[in-house]
Amino acid sequence: MIFLIIFSAWLLILAVVFAWKYPLFKKTWLELYFADTPVLVESDDWGPGNELHTQRLLQLFSCLETHKDTVGRAVVLTANIVLSMPDIEKIMADATGSYHRKLLNEVSPEIYQAMLFGIKQGVLVPQLHGLEHLNGQAFARLCQLNDSRIADALVNSQSWDWEDLASALQGHYVDGSELPTQAISSEQARALIVLATQRFTELFGFTSFSTVAPCYLWNSDIERLWQQEGVSVIQTAGYRCDRRDKSGHYHQDRSLIRAGDLSESAQVYLVRNVMYEPVDGNNNADTAYHEARVAYAQALPISISTHRYNYTRTEGEFNNSLKGLDQLLKAISSNIGGIRYLSSPELGQQYLSDHSEIVNHFNNSQWKPLKRRSGLRKLAPYLWRLYYRHPKLVVLAYISGLIIPASLICRYSR
Ligand SMILES: [Zn+2]
Repeated sequence: MIFLIIFSAWLLILAVVFAWKYPLFKKTWLELYFADTPVLVESDDWGPGNELHTQRLLQLFSCLETHKDTVGRAVVLTANIVLSMPDIEKIMADATGSYHRKLLNEVSPEIYQAMLFGIKQGVLVPQLHGLEHLNGQAFARLCQLNDSRIADALVNSQSWDWEDLASALQGHYVDGSELPTQAISSEQARALIVLATQRFTELFGFTSFSTVAPCYLWNSDIERLWQQEGVSVIQTAGYRCDRRDKSGHYHQDRSLIRAGDLSESAQVYLVRNVMYEPVDGNNNADTAYHEARVAYAQALPISISTHRYNYTRTEGEFNNSLKGLDQLLKAISSNIGGIRYLSSPELGQQYLSDHSEIVNHFNNSQWKPLKRRSGLRKLAPYLWRLYYRHPKLVVLAYISGLIIPASLICRYSR
């Protein structure tokens, strides 16, 4: 009798909550749920660099090659590429204040060749990060003014790197020379994006179907222009920032993006959900593995963010980062089922078209499509998505006792 009363109460609560949150429940249910587990390694800021960068990239490839998924594919580094560096001598000599650049293959032919090698081996898929990792017009103006913020660049133009700039100056689609940052005009943006997509294709033999904006700073106008140039997939950290405010803080104009959501220009968003940036000191292989488990429970892709700087600084930092990445990949493949390694443009394609073959257009390899969950096989990851995203529902589940049947479903549906 008591069970009947509890069961009836649960049904009543469920009916009320369902009526209250129906759009949320429906939207969550209609998301994509993977039966295989896509695992991506997303690494920003690869581009022009010195001999050390080349060696480190090759060592990274050696590590990635040792890990194979359920179809025998090695881990793929989705390398977000910066296509050029400022040509400081030319900028200084140009009285009109125009910006000049040197392309990746001109300024760093060794690292460019290493990238082509990685592409051929199938351990690197390039993705457009930006024509440069700064705002060219603002940079040229600061050069002409001999501004102290770029003094290093003027003195050590050969060894200088954009990572030496103050972070407000590293945005590409905004001018950060004064705060708040200003979005560049549509005309400027179009010129940059058209040139970037052309140069990317010339350098790597295929268009960049996907992108991630430098410093995560972009807006709807940039998305529209990307779409016009064939960029249909946007990598995010789960939000979009259109500027920095006058204190330098990021301003989010979209504060919540889920993997598979569509932009106003109908591009698919991807979301990085595992942070592995050990040089920052905030996370490590263990915390990243925990985040990977959380993604797996929700039948989401495991998208690992790990920037170049983790691998291009001191020997000690590099060894630590590489060892941790190896450990993280081992932990994921040993404990999580149905692993499939792929790149971001390939994952984006899986969201945009049903059951298509996975194609790496950069080395013309093909892999079978990812398996998806449907019907009741979605129920457990669906409940986990609600659990991790909506704390008020979790509180209600605990108070009402509905957490008990929900836990049983999650436990026994494995
Ligand atoms: Zn970057």
